[in-house]
Amino acid sequence: MYTHRSISDLRNKLSCGEVTCTEIVSSYLKQIENKKHLNAFIEVYAAEALEKAKSLDQKLKTPNSWGKLFGTVIGIKDVLCYKDHHVGAASKVLENYTAIYNATAIQKILDEDAIIIGNLNCDEFAMGSSNEHSSHGRVLNAWDETRVPGGSSGGSAVAVQANMCMVSLGSDTGGSVRQPADFCGIIGLKPSYGRVSRYGLLAYASSFDQIGIFAHGVEDAALVLEVIAGADEYDSTCSSSPVPNYISSLNQKATFKIAYFPECLEHPSLDQEIKTNIEQRIRELRSQGHTVEAVGFDYLDFIVPAYYILTTAEASSNLSRYDGVRFGYRTDAPVDNLQDLYKKSRSAGFGKEVKRRIMLGTFVLSTGYYDAYYAKAQQVRRLIADQTKEIFKSYDLLLMPTTPSTAFKFGEKSNDAVEMFLGDLYTVYANLAGIAAISMPMFKHSNGMPFGLQILADKMKESTLLQFSNQAMHQMKHVE
Ligand code: GLN
Repeated sequence: MYTHRSISDLRNKLSCGEVTCTEIVSSYLKQIENKKHLNAFIEVYAAEALEKAKSLDQKLKTPNSWGKLFGTVIGIKDVLCYKDHHVGAASKVLENYTAIYNATAIQKILDEDAIIIGNLNCDEFAMGSSNEHSSHGRVLNAWDETRVPGGSSGGSAVAVQANMCMVSLGSDTGGSVRQPADFCGIIGLKPSYGRVSRYGLLAYASSFDQIGIFAHGVEDAALVLEVIAGADEYDSTCSSSPVPNYISSLNQKATFKIAYFPECLEHPSLDQEIKTNIEQRIRELRSQGHTVEAVGFDYLDFIVPAYYILTTAEASSNLSRYDGVRFGYRTDAPVDNLQDLYKKSRSAGFGKEVKRRIMLGTFVLSTGYYDAYYAKAQQVRRLIADQTKEIFKSYDLLLMPTTPSTAFKFGEKSNDAVEMFLGDLYTVYANLAGIAAISMPMFKHSNGMPFGLQILADKMKESTLLQFSNQAMHQMKHVE
C-alpha cells in the first residue's frame, strides 16, 4: 500500500519507478472501500480516476512534462463545480444537479495533472460545525467514531485523516476548514479572502467564503495553494496580487513577532487543557527566539453575533435562487399558484439548519430591523478590520486556539443551535477580517483527541504564515 508523505516525495517515488499512478489510485480506492462506513465520500470516481492515472502513467518517463500536482490524489467538497459531475452542497435541493463548468480551483488542479478521486460529504450548504446536517448522513471522525469530524467540511477532513486521498479541498466561511482539521488532527488552511477564486464554489456567504485546503503537511498545503491561487476574470473579488512561490520560502528559518489576545485564552468556554497547552507553546516559542506578546482585542464578544447576522443575511439572498423554477428541487405536490410552488419546494428541499439561517437572514434584512442588526453588524465588521490592520502593523502573526473544545460526541450540541454557534468563537474572526489562517495539529488532549493551534496572518501574507507553520511543525516532530 502507498503511504503518502508529501507531494514532493510522491514525485520522487514516481520518477524513480517505485510506484505508478495506477498503483497509487488503486491503493486509495481500496482504502476508500475499507473506510466506507465513515461516510466521507458522496461519490467515488473510481473508473475515471483509474483512467486518468493510466494516461498519466504514459508520461512517467518524462518528468519535465509533469504538472505541479502530477499524480496527486485529491478529494473535493460537494460545493465545488466539477464539469459533468454531480454537485449538491449535500442538499436535497440540488440532488439532481450536474455541474456544467469547472470551478477555477478545479480547473487549475486538473491542469497540473491532479487526479480527482471523488466528492466529499459536508453540512448542507456548508452551514454547520459537526457534519450532522447533511442529506447524505453524518460523517464519522476516524480518530473516535462516536465523535463528530467537525464541519462543515467534515468529509474533506476525514478523507485526508483516514488516508482516502492525499489532500482535499473544502470551503471556509467561518471555520469550516480549520475546525474539522483541528478535530481530525490534520492541517487546514484558509487563505485570505480573494486569494483563491470563488468561481464555481456554491455560495453560502459570498463576502466570507473562501476555498481552503486539508493536508497532512504544510508543504502539501503550500503547493496546492500555489496552484489554485491567483487572479481570475470570472471572480471580481479575487485579488490580482501575484502569487508568490510559497514552497521556495518554506524552509527559510526566521524568527517572528507574534501577538495573541489574552481575552481568547481567558474565555470561559475554553477547555482548560487546551489553554494550558497553548500557554506552554507560547513559552516554547519565546525560548526559540520568537517574540510573543499579549495584545488587547476589544471585540471578542461581538464576533460570533456579527458573523451570524452577516452570513445569514448573505445566505438568505444567495439561496433565494433555489426556488424550484430557476434552480433546485421542485415539489410534486399539487400547488395553487407560483407562491405556493416556491413554498412547497423550498420547504421540502432544504433541511432544518438551512431553513433556520434563511429565516434569520431574512429577518435581519427586513425593514425595521435592518439598521438594528445588519447595519450594526457591518459596523462591527469594520471595527474588527481596522483593529486587525493596526495589529499587523506591529506583528507578523497572531496566535489563538482553533476551537474551544476537542471534537464532541454526536448529538451533544445538535439540539442547541446557540451552543453550536459559540463553538465558532475562534474561527469566524479570520473570515470577518478577510485574513489568512491555518490550524496545525499540535496537541493531544487527555480525552485522547487531537487539537490544533491556529495561526493567522494579514491579508495576502500566506508566505509568512506557511513559513512559520512549517518551521513550527518540524520543530514539534523534533521534540516528540
Ligand atoms: N460553523 C460555521 C457555520 O456554521 C462555519 C461554516 C463554514 O465555514 N462554512 O457557519
